Amino acid sequence: MEKKKFYMTTAIAYTSAKPHIGNTYEIVLADAIARHKRMEGFDVFFCTGTDEHGQKIEEKAEAAGVTPKAYVDKVSGEVRKIWDTMNTTYDYFIRTTDVPHEKVVQKIFKKMYEKGDIYKSEYEGMYCTPCESFWTESQLVNGCCPDCGRPVQPAKEEAYFFKMSKYADRLIQYIEDNPDFIVPESRKKEMINNFLKPGLQDLCVSRTSFKWGIPVDFDPKHVV
Ligand SMILES: [Zn+2]
Repeated sequence: MEKKKFYMTTAIAYTSAKPHIGNTYEIVLADAIARHKRMEGFDVFFCTGTDEHGQKIEEKAEAAGVTPKAYVDKVSGEVRKIWDTMNTTYDYFIRTTDVPHEKVVQKIFKKMYEKGDIYKSEYEGMYCTPCESFWTESQLVNGCCPDCGRPVQPAKEEAYFFKMSKYADRLIQYIEDNPDFIVPESRKKEMINNFLKPGLQDLCVSRTSFKWGIPVDFDPKHVV
């Protein structure tokens, strides 16, 4: 008889700094579930990995005097070493800088753009010129840049957006029709009442103010 499949993943650890106890806690809990499911006879695929792009990493690498790739190679290696020290039984360790991953991101991005689910608009936020960084109102400290403490100005940047707003009703319907889709019940209620019912905002999915991301192949000044 063919074994029933069971897929699970952890969140992928962000590689801006060394892994912390919270990351380790998560992989160990996930590992316990994976081992339990294997004992129950499931064909388990257990995925984990590292999230390796973004402005924060670009800045940390620059401060350390290394390329972003060299920086994330080191941190991702540390994460993996800890997962192995903890004797966790993951089947696949994905890095978001893996070439196959980058190619798939570019392919999906283009397909969604062609179908109209991704569109070009402007990202608005508070901008710190010396830091070349956008901040949201809630990130500001006493109305100033949280990194350098200097004043910030409202600014706009060309960006691509994902039409997430279009999917709220469909998601609510799906979650209500499939009671086991999100468990426990309290989390399902939280998702519906706090996120979906107030209305989803379109999501900014590209930036031009830094380089360390996956280039949009048909508009390469943007990175995902
Ligand atoms: Zn600043």
